Amino acid sequence: MKSKGLLIVFSGPSGVGKDTVLKHLLEKDPNIRLSVSATTRPPREGEIDGKDYYFLTKEKFQEMAENGEMLESAGYCGNFYGTPKKPIEKWLSEGLDVVLEIEVQGGAQVQSKCPDCVGIFILPPSLKVLENRLRNRRTDSDDVIQKRLMVARDEILQAVHYDYAVINDTVEQAAEEIIHILHAEKHKVQRD
Ligand code: 5GP
Repeated sequence: MKSKGLLIVFSGPSGVGKDTVLKHLLEKDPNIRLSVSATTRPPREGEIDGKDYYFLTKEKFQEMAENGEMLESAGYCGNFYGTPKKPIEKWLSEGLDVVLEIEVQGGAQVQSKCPDCVGIFILPPSLKVLENRLRNRRTDSDDVIQKRLMVARDEILQAVHYDYAVINDTVEQAAEEIIHILHAEKHKVQRD
């Protein structure tokens, strides 16, 4: 069985409810840490620097990426997003599981760099439900919502590159299914 923590790549289209599912997951499992990403996107109302994201200028983001301080990075809807490497390495070595909530290009980078990671893709029950969730969030303009829905259609096709797909019908059930997945992963026999 594994003594190092699991690196979990958690992806899914914008508005699918990844944050809410993760919140449940973190409440249920004290062994999980959530990586705080860096982004050049401006903060949304209520978002806190260092908690929700590290909000960086384009220059600072590029500097970190060039210095090899990011495990992965990607452009998404006109902004850059990336995963700072250091905290992840520390947590994994302490035996903690680490979740990266990232989009699919970054997910592919992590899956090729860290073949032992567990890829979980979260799906909406339907595209209509996804559109309604994006609208109800009231954080983005109509233009941005349309852009995110177009990206979402492409992203959903990438679910095949992940190890597991979980439908977020109810948050509780999705979080429960992820806990079962992680449980099974910890009991996987190492063949190499
Ligand atoms: P949002 O702007 O809605 O917070 O995030 C937009 C997308 O960027 C989401 O799909 C989210 O999972 C993804 N994202 C957040 N942090 C990172 C990161 O560090 N790397 C990558 N590649 N994507 C990220």
